[in-house]
Amino acid sequence: MKARNPSTVAVRSGLASDSQHGAVIPPVHLSSNFTFAGYAQQRQYDYTRSGNPTRDLLGSTLAELEGAAGAVVTSSGMAALTLLLQLVDPGDLVIAPHDCYGGTHRLLKHLASRGQFRLEFVDQTSAQGLGSVQRNCPRLVLVESPSNPLLRIVDISRIAGLAKRAGALLAVDNTFLSPALQTPIDLGADLVVHSTTKYLNGHSDVVGGAIVAATTELANELGAIANTLGITGAPFDSYLTLRGVRTLQARVRQHEDNARQLAGLLDNHPAVAAVHYPGLSRHPGHQIAAAQQRGFGGMLSFELQGGTGAVQSFLESLQLFSLAESLGGVESLVCHPRTMTHAAMSNEACDAAGISAQLIRLSVGIEDIDDLAADVLNSLGSIPYATMARAIA
Ligand code: PLP
Repeated sequence: MKARNPSTVAVRSGLASDSQHGAVIPPVHLSSNFTFAGYAQQRQYDYTRSGNPTRDLLGSTLAELEGAAGAVVTSSGMAALTLLLQLVDPGDLVIAPHDCYGGTHRLLKHLASRGQFRLEFVDQTSAQGLGSVQRNCPRLVLVESPSNPLLRIVDISRIAGLAKRAGALLAVDNTFLSPALQTPIDLGADLVVHSTTKYLNGHSDVVGGAIVAATTELANELGAIANTLGITGAPFDSYLTLRGVRTLQARVRQHEDNARQLAGLLDNHPAVAAVHYPGLSRHPGHQIAAAQQRGFGGMLSFELQGGTGAVQSFLESLQLFSLAESLGGVESLVCHPRTMTHAAMSNEACDAAGISAQLIRLSVGIEDIDDLAADVLNSLGSIPYATMARAIA
């Protein structure tokens, strides 16, 4: 039979596999341990940290959606990144984006400062950044595309070619798009990292993560390390995440439709200085995104005219966007990266990455677009004219 399409995989993974009662939805296995059949007769599972049927079903579903050989489900996105960084040794070079998620930036800096690897932050959208992959013999290149929070786009096939020639592993953080809109392994990546907390779960009620690997060898190696470190995901979280995954494709379509309309609206508003949304034709990464993605996603960021007064007024006037961290849930969220998701980065690092104090990030939910648009317009209208006029002058 022909390979199933992703929407079918997401909806049907593991359905009707319960041989005991014929349950349509696979049961959740919460047990921390499993009996041995007898002396030295281990069954498939013995202890949930090492292996669990519910977590394994989520892992195999994610692997199938990403076109990967296998996946390891972890307790958070940061745990997935921690696991990834176990693949490098002291002295190895890790090349990472200078504008990545603040928690990733903090983790990389922390581990590098303890001597676990050498670290270089580069702008992977520039010739200079790509040149350092060619010149500096990294062991691991980490990409985040689209990046959080500036939605910068890295040419994944291009950097994969450079990484391969340098003998490096290429890992792509695919959290912003999910496999519904981008499958980096098809573009040459060796590994894909997810915060499943976001679109994959999609309902803001689980913190989880995953790494999917292009080869069985890498998947097995990561699985063994995750068990050793004790960072595998919990069964109930896996169950909820799989429940979210079943509606992934439908949710993502609505997120994107709403985000595209809001990006257009913001792009034409006098209170807005710049909009970062790869779906806009003048976004610098638009062509690459159109070629390597199957859509532009539900995340966008923009810069307001005016200073902190304008930012505060906008954030506090919104009624339908909750001021909160995280992203990818069905509900709309607004975030001020400099004081929230990227607060762990120094002001200098934020400035170098282009994360200004006027930058606002939206995780556009699946509410009615007319209501969302009215809320954004109303809040932009709330910005005191004097604040804006001073900034424009
Ligand atoms: N990667 C990206 C792109 C993120 O945005 C986040 C969290 O916001 C993470 C990784 C970390 O994931 P978690 O919060 O699940 O640990």
